[in-house]
Amino acid sequence: MVFLLRTLKNILKAATEGPVRLFYPEVCQICLDSTALPLQGFVCEACQRGIMPVQAPFCHRCGLPFEGEIHQAFQCPNCHDVRLFFVSSRSACVANTLMLDMLHRYKYANARWLEPLFERLMGAALFNDRFIDTWDVVLPVPLYSVRQRERGYNQSAFLAQSMAARLKLPCPEGVLKRVAHTPSQTMLSRKERAVNMAKAFEVVDVETISNRRVLLIDDVFTTGATVNECARVCMCAGAQSVHVWTLARGLGVMGT
Ligand SMILES: [Zn+2]
Ligand SMILES: [Zn+2]
Repeated sequence: MVFLLRTLKNILKAATEGPVRLFYPEVCQICLDSTALPLQGFVCEACQRGIMPVQAPFCHRCGLPFEGEIHQAFQCPNCHDVRLFFVSSRSACVANTLMLDMLHRYKYANARWLEPLFERLMGAALFNDRFIDTWDVVLPVPLYSVRQRERGYNQSAFLAQSMAARLKLPCPEGVLKRVAHTPSQTMLSRKERAVNMAKAFEVVDVETISNRRVLLIDDVFTTGATVNECARVCMCAGAQSVHVWTLARGLGVMGT
């Protein structure tokens, strides 16, 4: 009887520690070989060494990393070509194969077990930003409502809420809304993405961002079309400034 009670207690404990434990043993979900704990996002130390942090030098505007010795602030050629509505964009990690695989699982396969890892990576990088003390409100890039219902969660909202908690800033829901369903952008050029994004977002709650300095959070920066359009509508709605942070940064040439 005592044994049964103890077993039941252990099952309940496992359930309350997060459903992930019931489905995933403490094994790395990338190599399926080494031990990896829930706090590591079920990614072992060896696999985590494949995550590449974004390191200087990078464009001071869009955060695109460059090779070589550049010590002064510079703006990349891509940023000269296009009207940007954010002051700066920074990312924690390079969107390499490993990171894109993890993000894909997180977005499309409900891999919520990655959240502790994502939170740690983004938090560590974001707290090195020189603009850290200058934001008033944190907003996630919203998903289209149908897509969010299908998926059950918005990956950017999780990142925004955890960063807001660390920064002790508000992260109100429903300020920005995605009003148009945008077809997949994967195969589109930078120009096509910008056209695709036009009128995709709307500020629903103008008062919350009026005259405020916004920190906008998304999971990945590819050409910047999404975050730039969000920044544009925020600025049109009276925001004082918009800074962007994303977990991952694509390194592709933005004009292609
Ligand atoms: Zn591993
Ligand atoms: Zn740039």
